[in-house]
Amino acid sequence: MVTRDTLDAIVIGGGIAGLAAAWDLRDRNVLVLEATDRVGGRIKSEPRGDVWLNLGAHVFSGAGSASDRLLAETGMHAPTVSGRLAAVSLNGKLVASGGVETFPFRLPMPLMSRVALVRAGIKLRLAVAQYAKIAAPVPGEDPAVRQLRMLQFMDDRSFREFSGTLPEDVDLLFRSTLTRSSGEPEQLPAGYGVGYFHLVWNRTAGLSRNILGGPTRFTDALAAGLGDRVHRGAVVSSVRQDANGVTVSWTDAGVAHEARAAAAVVATPAYVTREIVTGLPDDTAAALNAIPYGPYIVGSLLTGEQGAKPWDDLYALATPKRSFSMLFNMGNVLRGGETTRRPGGSLMVYAAAGFARRLWDVADADIASRFREDLAALFPGTDTEVREVVVQRWERGVPHPIVGRSKLQAPLTKPLGRVHLAGDYLGSWHTETAIRTATSAAAQIRGQIGG
Ligand SMILES: Cc1cc2nc3c(=O)[nH]c(=O)nc-3n(C[C@H](O)[C@H](O)[C@H](O)COP(=O)(O)OP(=O)(O)OC[C@H]3O[C@@H](n4cnc5c(N)ncnc54)[C@H](O)[C@@H]3O)c2cc1C
Repeated sequence: MVTRDTLDAIVIGGGIAGLAAAWDLRDRNVLVLEATDRVGGRIKSEPRGDVWLNLGAHVFSGAGSASDRLLAETGMHAPTVSGRLAAVSLNGKLVASGGVETFPFRLPMPLMSRVALVRAGIKLRLAVAQYAKIAAPVPGEDPAVRQLRMLQFMDDRSFREFSGTLPEDVDLLFRSTLTRSSGEPEQLPAGYGVGYFHLVWNRTAGLSRNILGGPTRFTDALAAGLGDRVHRGAVVSSVRQDANGVTVSWTDAGVAHEARAAAAVVATPAYVTREIVTGLPDDTAAALNAIPYGPYIVGSLLTGEQGAKPWDDLYALATPKRSFSMLFNMGNVLRGGETTRRPGGSLMVYAAAGFARRLWDVADADIASRFREDLAALFPGTDTEVREVVVQRWERGVPHPIVGRSKLQAPLTKPLGRVHLAGDYLGSWHTETAIRTATSAAAQIRGQIGG
């Protein structure tokens, strides 16, 4: 089937980037093509009464961000999580209070490791302070300039080269937080690794808002606002541009379709974009090829406790010697507004990067059992509270930079005529980058089509 009318824009991919681009163009003749039967991509949650099981992205950017604007426009209630963002369980002890600089003296570890952690901690804190200066927005500055400055910070060596070889306990402590980005300390540029601690430990400037009801409410609200402009089950195979516009080909239930538009937003992961956009400049194609994605195995646990739990004041807990490398308390954001502790809650745990690779061949049911056992080991007596466990695998979960990433930024972001790229792989703020690049693509298309 070939559509007769030329559309203003075709958006490929119904993740947050594609939906955000289409949302900004919703007054125009726009079509969203999503390959699967659901929108949201790597944003995925399922409601369970007052709580939700979270299976993908969970924390979002704060005031003044592109996410903030879109959350407000779709009527989402997205409070900042109040629980601790930096807590650790290591060698049988959980430390969830006090400054991170006190951790080396409170976590059980051999003296040599303690000394190494103090040294590495000081080095890291100094670098984070330097990064914070570099990452600070300059009034009136193009966000792309700020992004490049952040990517260029200590981009010539790996985090491992920056930190030096560390004793096992210290290495695992850093690794469990850094692999939240899906990359290992040996792969990530030092500056990105340093910046990652800034991103996930910083309540004001980082990613620290939860969406009440679960993040899928956000992508569902965007899709609902777009109505029948969103086509699910449409697998795009090619995006070709010529002097007058773009032609997009896709199949839907085995039937081939084609449509023309003045412009396209390609909001698919880098490895898909590389395959479906024809005629890409060589340097852009090579840059898309150079973006690795690391895996995650997520376990989302619905709990049925009747009263307060030791995790109530926690949001993020690093668990380097468990089957999962991180634990997040999805119920934390609900606790703030309570006068009496309501029953039930929801925890999300995951094994990321190498932690996920080690588990990859284990069956989901066995992973669920291991996650439950480790939860019980962390918080004795809680196994009986678990009502449901959902396991979600993301083989290509999150794109992560490698040393020299800043050199890819120009080929990834240069103008490509009527084809505009959007997605998290174009920067370092995950969902915020996805939304920001989508907003920018929509604005450029308005410039091209007028209005
Ligand atoms: C476990 C986990 C935890 C995370 N936590 C956070 C977090 O707390 N905060 C944060 O900001 N980010 C987080 N992220 C990252 C975040 O999920 C992503 O940055 C974001 O969702 C990416 O959005 P996107 O639209 O760029 O890509 P995607 O969500 O991947 O969307 C791309 C869409 O394109 C579709 N598609 C692919 N191929 C085709 C094709 N040929 N034709 C048509 N459609 C196609 C896909 O089905 C998908 O729906 C997390 C990710 C994971 C996996």
